[in-house]
Amino acid sequence: MLRLTVLYDNEACPGLTGSWGFSALIETGTETLLFDTGWDGTLLLKNMEKIGIDPACVNKLVLSHQHWDHIGGLPEILNANSGITVYVPASFSENLKREIRKRAELIEVKESIEISDGIWSTGELGEKIKEQSLVLCTEKGSYVLTGCAHPGIAAILDAALCHGEVKGIIGGLHDDDRFERLEGMELIAAGHCTTHKEKIKELFRTKFMETQAGLKLELTTY
Ligand SMILES: [Zn+2]
Ligand SMILES: [Zn+2]
Repeated sequence: MLRLTVLYDNEACPGLTGSWGFSALIETGTETLLFDTGWDGTLLLKNMEKIGIDPACVNKLVLSHQHWDHIGGLPEILNANSGITVYVPASFSENLKREIRKRAELIEVKESIEISDGIWSTGELGEKIKEQSLVLCTEKGSYVLTGCAHPGIAAILDAALCHGEVKGIIGGLHDDDRFERLEGMELIAAGHCTTHKEKIKELFRTKFMETQAGLKLELTTY
């Protein structure tokens, strides 16, 4: 079982609130991981409450990159849960890493590492803006979860390929227009900062899904 729930996105399902940023929850059956926090922690916690997720259940928090719309909710999450392990790209600012260490266990990610059973970080990728994405491995293949995809879809997918065929991608795809890299995927759930959302939707109509707060995906069914 691998369930992914979008908690925070520019768009939201009825009853939830949308706001610029991204956050998603991954439930593996044994662990609960939070990926990014959006920018408004109060709003993130409100969306979680409405969806029925207790922040105290989260064991691990993975931050994709050091942009305000992905790490802004960090203090509220750490205030709500004192037993969390936080995984950040090693290039995060020293001051931020020091502050996180005061409240949580901090793991700095440079190379690809396994964060939970079958859930891998790509390691920090990219030149100017370093970012890690997650590779979620299922018996049917793997799914890539991105924050903003600043390193580019090609670099992220190349890094993910060592875990087998990539069946789908979920998250922000920024302004990348190498749409050919999405060919053959069974699920393209794009949102947040994806500039070419309409074009991707048009090209991959039957595989496309818009990420929005409240979207729930059972990854073994795609
Ligand atoms: Zn972003
Ligand atoms: Zn960004």
